[in-house]
Amino acid sequence: MADNIQLLPDNIANQIAAGEVIQRPASAVKELLENAIDAGATEIRLNVVESGKSLIQVTDNGRGMSPLDARMCFERHATSKIREIDDLFQIKTMGFRGEALASIAAVAQVELKTRRKGDETGTYLEVENSRVIKQEPVATTEGTIISMKNLFFNIPARRNFLKSNAAELKHIHDEFVRVAMAFPAVFFSFTHNGQQVYHLEKGSFKQRVIQLLGNNLHSKLVTVNEQTDYLNISGFVGKPDTARKTRGDQYFFVNNRFIKSPYLNHAVVSAFQNLIPSDSFPLYALNIDLNPAQIDVNVHPTKQEIKFEDERIVYAFVQAAVKHALAQFSITPALDFDLDPGIQQLEAVSQPVTSFNKERIATSPIYQSFTKKHQAHLVYSGNSGSTLHNPFDYDFFGSTQEKTAVKPPVSLQPLTEEQQFYSPVQYLNSYIVTASHKGLLLVNQQLAHERILYERYLDAFAAKPLAIQQSLFPVNIQLATADSVLLNELLPEMLLLGYDIKPFGNNSFVVHGTPADSGQGNEQEIIENILEQYKHFSNSITISKREKLIRTMAGQHAVKEGVKLSSEEATKLVEDLFNCKTPNTTANGQPTYILLKEAYLQQLFQK
Ligand code: ADP
Ligand code: MG
Repeated sequence: MADNIQLLPDNIANQIAAGEVIQRPASAVKELLENAIDAGATEIRLNVVESGKSLIQVTDNGRGMSPLDARMCFERHATSKIREIDDLFQIKTMGFRGEALASIAAVAQVELKTRRKGDETGTYLEVENSRVIKQEPVATTEGTIISMKNLFFNIPARRNFLKSNAAELKHIHDEFVRVAMAFPAVFFSFTHNGQQVYHLEKGSFKQRVIQLLGNNLHSKLVTVNEQTDYLNISGFVGKPDTARKTRGDQYFFVNNRFIKSPYLNHAVVSAFQNLIPSDSFPLYALNIDLNPAQIDVNVHPTKQEIKFEDERIVYAFVQAAVKHALAQFSITPALDFDLDPGIQQLEAVSQPVTSFNKERIATSPIYQSFTKKHQAHLVYSGNSGSTLHNPFDYDFFGSTQEKTAVKPPVSLQPLTEEQQFYSPVQYLNSYIVTASHKGLLLVNQQLAHERILYERYLDAFAAKPLAIQQSLFPVNIQLATADSVLLNELLPEMLLLGYDIKPFGNNSFVVHGTPADSGQGNEQEIIENILEQYKHFSNSITISKREKLIRTMAGQHAVKEGVKLSSEEATKLVEDLFNCKTPNTTANGQPTYILLKEAYLQQLFQK
């Protein structure tokens, strides 16, 4: 028999790899703006036409490139920013993976004009399908102008996946704001379809935040500023009346890089406890600066997520810094929120964190007293008799970190050890009130069920596909083209999750079976909902297709708030929850229950 395996041609390999970095016009905007920053530009202009679908152009006055570099920069793994693997832990530039321009060149038509300071002439280059089709000298200003036209012109299927112009423009806007906010000393402008969206003069961080988020914030920002040997935190949080019902302006920058971190977000939100309603979102723009050796930026292709060597320390600092700021501005009663000077002297904080040091931090009395006294952590050991300001004592760490991760400072006994729950009571058809040996438990039925289903679906992939109930009368469903492409891609996974669906041509499908435990009827609607949710679920590409699907299905199939449960159902739900590997939160990081410990109840009754 003939052998089958072939190497993919470069341009196809590049197109595939590009999927990681360039998902949509906004991803290209981010990469190009960051390249301009890395080139030392002090003026950066972004010009976009038709939400980036026809043109994205970035003009900078940075250091420019030599003719050879101009050609090299489109090669995969071509970078001027790192030389050796160790450099990864001293990253001071935005880029370093050397993939952005290669990816862009694989999926768009690119024109580059660049000139270095002191060079007589510049270089002009045209690239298409990863090939240089023209290179010649050109008269151009110092710096670089890069134009990216007709994104995904050569991958129509991906082009079809782009959202409406309004939606794509919103993504571009978000990326622009993130970069512009991180670099207030750089002039930025942004034009869309010939109209100016932003013109941002150089200024302070505060000025930039106000330019970007609105003049009305002028008197509404509280300064956060905490300098320690380990890290510095600076920036602003909005006064409580700026909190919104929807997640809006929340920005973390770590060494000038915008990052998403539900974990650190939690630190800020918890500092706002009792100041804003629990369902609203505080505004913040915070810069965290620390030694690059303490973070790993290379955990995500778009670098929006990073790993901290010890994220619990960062959490503690962020929470304390925000509390401190709010207290100083008399927004909270003046409780003793000061950062314990002890923590700054902690050897482990001022020295490189090795796992040995980490163990020591975790067990050091100063660290523990810091975490208890200042409530910098949510984890609280219970009956120690010290003052509790924070009733929400759910075990947060267990949820964001693998169970095998570094030992948390206070030991966490999983609740599963004793499965003795008091008879549960359902409240408002949404919460289950019960108790265990650990304390009083308030379980959110919807979120708890999401967690249970999530783990069941994970199992479905690992070993135990869900049982399918075959339909006596298979249902025919008709989908929009984009949805049908998507569903086709997801069919094998859907089968493991209990949906037996076969394509029937012309964007139609036949549903032969559905998950045995979820009833029948409404197949069209359910599947459309799943697809819709899947698409909107997250732009994050850290999350694999499977993971997205599992989270989507868990969200879809979970029992909703407002549904009456029998006492057997409520009992089963609580038991199932605490039999989960990670009962504390949903896969999206929302807490599933809240635990009120005896010490806190005592305090409430002023004992
Ligand atoms: P990375 O930024 O990860 O190094 P890119 O593909 O984004 O990878 O860019 C490749 C290289 O091209 C960069 O390392 C840099 O040397 C050069 N480059 C890209 N954009 C610019 C620019 N606007 N000005 C000067 N040099 C640039
Ligand atoms: Mg780059």
